[in-house]
Amino acid sequence: MSTAAQDAPEYAIDIRGLRKVYAAQGGEPEKEALKGVDLAIPHGSIFGLLGPNGAGKSTLINILAGLVNKTSGSVRIWGFDQDANPRMSRASIGVVPQELHLDPFFTPREAMEIQAGLYGVKSGDRRTESLLTALGLGDKMDVGARALSGGMKRRLLIGKALAHSPPVLILDEPTAGVDIDLRRQLWDYVRKLNESGVTIILTTHYLEEAEEMCDRIAIINHGTVIANEPKTALLDRLDRKTVTIVPITSLTTVPNTLATQAGIQTAITTDGALAITYSRREASLGTLLELTHSAGIEIRDVTTSEAGLERVFLDLVAEAK
Ligand code: ADP
Ligand code: MG
Repeated sequence: MSTAAQDAPEYAIDIRGLRKVYAAQGGEPEKEALKGVDLAIPHGSIFGLLGPNGAGKSTLINILAGLVNKTSGSVRIWGFDQDANPRMSRASIGVVPQELHLDPFFTPREAMEIQAGLYGVKSGDRRTESLLTALGLGDKMDVGARALSGGMKRRLLIGKALAHSPPVLILDEPTAGVDIDLRRQLWDYVRKLNESGVTIILTTHYLEEAEEMCDRIAIINHGTVIANEPKTALLDRLDRKTVTIVPITSLTTVPNTLATQAGIQTAITTDGALAITYSRREASLGTLLELTHSAGIEIRDVTTSEAGLERVFLDLVAEAK
C-alpha cells in the first residue's frame, strides 16, 4: 500500500525526552501531561499505547499529529525530525482523532477529496472510492455527514487519515462508543492494513483490546511510560494467579518441595494457610494441589483469586508509582 514501507526506518516513531506542560488557564493550574517520555515504535508493528484516562495518550498522539506543540524533547516520524522536517514527518502519518469531528456540510466523498487535496495527492492517485468501499461506506459516499452514525463517522475519519497513504496510522481510542460488530470490522480492517505494511499505533484504556490487537504494548500513566514490551512478555507478567490452600493443620513454614519449586512463589498467610502465586502459562492448579498433597499437607479448602485484567493493570500502575 505504501511505497515508503520499502525503505522503512527501524522505528516508525522515535520519541526522546518528550515533555508537555499545558499552561494554567481558567483557574486550572498548569499541567505536566508528559514527563519526559522515551518511546521507540518499531516499523511494521501494531503497537498499543495503553493507559487510564488522563494518562497523556491523546497529548502524545496530538503532538505526533502536529495538533499540540510539545514543550521539549524530540520526535522523529518515519525517520524525519518533526522540527527539522515538518512536511515529511507530517506526510508520514495519518491520525484518527479521539473526537468525532467532521464538517457536517461535506459528504464522505467530498471530505476525502478535500483531505487528499490538502496533502497534495493528485486526482489520479486518489483512493476516495476504494477507501470508502473498503471501510463499508460504499453506499454512503454522497450523503451528508449528519446522516452518518457514530460508527460510520469513525470509519470516515479512518478513510481521511489514509487519504495520503501514510506508512503510519495512529488511532486514538478507536473503539470508544463502537458496538461489537463494528469493532470486529474495524480490527479486521486494521489487521489488513498492517499486513499491507502500515505500522499501526492505537491507544486504549482497555487491556483486553491491546491484548487482542497489538504485538507490542506500552503502558503510560501520569505522563510516564511504565512498561514497553512485546505483548507476550507483558501478559506473562500480568498472567499471575494466587491459590490459597487451607490445610487441616495450620502451617508455620512452607514445605521444602514447594519452596524450591521453580516458577511459583509461596507464602504462609497469617492464619496458617499456604498461598501460592503462579503463572497460568507455567503451572496448573492440579499440579500445585498434587505438589501440596505430596508434601504431606492435608487440604481442608482451596480458594483461588484471579486478578481480572483491569485489576492487574491497576496493580502494575500502582507498582510503578
Ligand atoms: P488521555 O488521552 O490518556 O486520557 P490526555 O492526554 O487527554 O490523556 O490528558 C492528559 C492530562 O492533560 C490530563 O490531566 C488532562 O486533563 C490534561 N490536558 C489534556 N488536554 C489539555 C488541554 N488542552 N489543556 C490543559 N490540560 C489538558
Ligand atoms: Mg485520550
